[in-house]
Amino acid sequence: MGDPVSLSAREIRSMFLRFFEERGHRCVPSASLIPDSDPTLLFTNAGMVPFKNVFVGSESRDFARATSSQKCMRVSGKHNDLENVGRTPRHHTFFEMLGNFSFGDYFKREAIEYAWELVTQVYGIDPARLVATVFREDDDAFDIWREGIGLPAEKVMRLDEDENFWSMGETGPCGPCSEIHVDFGVNPACKADVCDPSCDCGRWLEIWNLVFMQYDRDAAGATTPLPKPSIDTGAGLERLAAVLQGAPSNYDTDLFRGILERAQEISGVRRGTDPEKDVSLNVVADHARAVTFLIGDGVLPGNEGRGYVLRRILRRAARHGVLLGIEEPFLHDVADAVIAEMSVAYPELAERRDYITDRVRREEARFLETLSKGLIRLDEHIAKLAQKGQDVLTGEEVFRLYDTYGFPVDLTADILRGHGMSLDQEGFDAAMTVQRERARAAWKGSGDAKVEEIYARMANDLATSFLGYDRERVDSVVRALLVDGASREVATAGDVVEVIVDETPFYAESGGQVGDRGEIRTAAGRVDVEDTQRPSGDLVVHRGRIVEGEIRVGDPAELSIDAAARAGTVRNHSGTHLLHAALRQVVGTQAMQKGSLVGPDRLRFDFTHDSPLTRDEIDRIEDLVNEWIEANFTGSTREMPYADAIEAGAVAIFEEKYGDRVRVVSFGDASTELCGGTHAKATGQIGLLKIVSEGGIASGVRRIEALTGAGALRHIREEEETLRRAAALLKAAPAELPDRIAKLVEDRRAAEREIEGLRARERGAASSDLSAAAKEIAGVRVLAARAEGAQGKELRNMIDDLRGKLGSGVVLLAAEADGRVSLALGVTPDLTDRFRAGDLIREIVSLVGGKGGGRPDFAQGGGDDPTKIDAAFERFEALIAEG
Ligand code: ATP
Ligand code: MG
Repeated sequence: MGDPVSLSAREIRSMFLRFFEERGHRCVPSASLIPDSDPTLLFTNAGMVPFKNVFVGSESRDFARATSSQKCMRVSGKHNDLENVGRTPRHHTFFEMLGNFSFGDYFKREAIEYAWELVTQVYGIDPARLVATVFREDDDAFDIWREGIGLPAEKVMRLDEDENFWSMGETGPCGPCSEIHVDFGVNPACKADVCDPSCDCGRWLEIWNLVFMQYDRDAAGATTPLPKPSIDTGAGLERLAAVLQGAPSNYDTDLFRGILERAQEISGVRRGTDPEKDVSLNVVADHARAVTFLIGDGVLPGNEGRGYVLRRILRRAARHGVLLGIEEPFLHDVADAVIAEMSVAYPELAERRDYITDRVRREEARFLETLSKGLIRLDEHIAKLAQKGQDVLTGEEVFRLYDTYGFPVDLTADILRGHGMSLDQEGFDAAMTVQRERARAAWKGSGDAKVEEIYARMANDLATSFLGYDRERVDSVVRALLVDGASREVATAGDVVEVIVDETPFYAESGGQVGDRGEIRTAAGRVDVEDTQRPSGDLVVHRGRIVEGEIRVGDPAELSIDAAARAGTVRNHSGTHLLHAALRQVVGTQAMQKGSLVGPDRLRFDFTHDSPLTRDEIDRIEDLVNEWIEANFTGSTREMPYADAIEAGAVAIFEEKYGDRVRVVSFGDASTELCGGTHAKATGQIGLLKIVSEGGIASGVRRIEALTGAGALRHIREEEETLRRAAALLKAAPAELPDRIAKLVEDRRAAEREIEGLRARERGAASSDLSAAAKEIAGVRVLAARAEGAQGKELRNMIDDLRGKLGSGVVLLAAEADGRVSLALGVTPDLTDRFRAGDLIREIVSLVGGKGGGRPDFAQGGGDDPTKIDAAFERFEALIAEG
């Protein structure tokens, strides 16, 4: 076939970007794998994702043409290629998508001409190897390929909507597309009647998809032309590299060479010896890239959402490592090779090298611990199934593997597939649902299994509607009462009750926002509600104490929340969203929410980040948030069915809390989040946000605490008051405090130095006096003396002085203070063979009623009988005399 040039992936990437730059496109750096603008999407899965809002017109840019090389992941939602990876030569979890975009500028003709020129003239692919596809009804595109480009009719193929029509969602921009495919020639094994690029026999390789966004689709499915048609294209870098390097698969390109080389070195397995081993090597290489880039963008392994996807990929790779005979954690080493290969284009990887490899190592080590146990169990099951002539593993067992051994379902499926077996997905899903219900029913504060059951049963018959997004007071009817975990018809003053009604303004704790407090009144009684929870289904439970009269099932009731507390919570919740957005702007999108707590008087936000925030970062975050508060962005909420959100690749983390609809909360351009909480009408309501602390709470996780509104003001006042009090003590102005304190500290240090000098001099004089009292016993210079007033360290210093003065000898000092005796005993080095200070002091100290010990040359002790000091001295001298 002989395409003349062989280009490196790096060249292919930069030639693409340069080609479009030269044609008036702004070259935009890759956005994070975690989509910023779209909380319903798990990962960036195409080059157009960062421009979504530009296409729909809700955002604008100061350029109308753009080009990028975008990091993409296709492991979930609508585009999920995970199962294919390692088995097809063309699909990756992580890949780079090259693209050019026109925002209402040029359209079909230029898009096709550019693509054709780049592919054939710049990259030099032989036109004879290429075919184009168009949407069956798109005569414009067909004509451009036929007449403009001059492709023969049989090389422009009309395909159906499922192949060549693209849409962003159920409604919104959509349009036909046109793809460029490389033809590898007839596959003799192909069974299709008509083998065109929609056939997956391997003959065709899609390299570039050109999307012509030209219609707007409404809810009824009708399309109207867009005023400004746009262009969105995507070409996979790995596939282009394979074609341009004449490589049989993406894995044979230079993009993967170093990575696969590392995997082969570690495993000792060479490619091309065993097809199954090749699959494992490919999976390891592919997943190592995904894992490296995900962690680089701030995702951490976890049990839900993105963290769970990362965990699954990493575990899948680790498992294939085991299949390759590797017994130790090794993926961090492969990740290192990924960083070496990719950091030219993505320098952030090199910056975070240690962080990334460290995370990979830890997660893999943790997994390997449980893996071996799970594998043994799974092997047993496989053997049993084989014996019985069956080939489907039950859902319960798959669930047990997942629950106990951390086996992701796709890993189990993967292993089973290797034995020609499969699993009962429905059974697994059912087991998962049961577990989820159980988790849901586990209401904090009750922990009692019986109560959980009652709630679960109640939730079958009862549901509470939440009306509190815009109301503080609601009239309803008491439907059920619980006292001490038992259902009651009536409850009376003093009882701690749980009250269930039809409709409520009380927000039940979820998504970090605490439950509302307030009051429930009936004609005969009043309940002080302290907390609101949702223990099961749509059942909302108001928990509190009856403070007046009695409450009866069936009573009409008036429910009102503590509006002041709620207002504080609202300020703090919206403040949390702004804080989250500002944090991502200031330190990067790898700072991801790990948890939050929003109450009436404070907010707490936990996020992933591996170093403390600097003062400057904290200031910038505060500044941004307060700018947004000042800008007074209106708060808006959009709801969409949960199913739709999932269909569009939505994040499933919040599913339990919000039932079958998800809610998107935004404040202008500042922040957009999936959230079911209560929020400010406009950001101005927050008043002021002040960060009061920042610190680490676990490895790689940090916590910010902040205050808003009056709470923030109060905090600032308290700090001011502290300053004022300190200033009053020093008779200085607050602004002078730092200098004055620095001066005080300095003065104090000087004074201490002076005191120490005086003491040393005094000690010197004292020990000279004392040394004169030394006597000779059995040829040894011996000194036993009182050192009045000396304490602790001073005693020790004196012993040192005296040892020096005596040159050779044994010294015992006794000091009395507050009815206690301190003894210190020193032996000069030449005598430690004969007298050991520790042994001597133990013998002596018992006389003064205490304990002691130490080293051969120095020992200390103490007791509480000062009258025995002289006796101690006698004993000491006697011991020396004995030798
Ligand atoms: P395919 O049908 O081969 O899965 P696609 O129709 O899903 O491709 P698009 O959504 O049009 O692909 O994406 C644009 C381009 O991105 C494709 O032409 C291809 O070059 C590349 N691409 C898509 N999915 C992957 C993947 N999983 N791995 C590597 N490259 C991909
Ligand atoms: Mg695809």
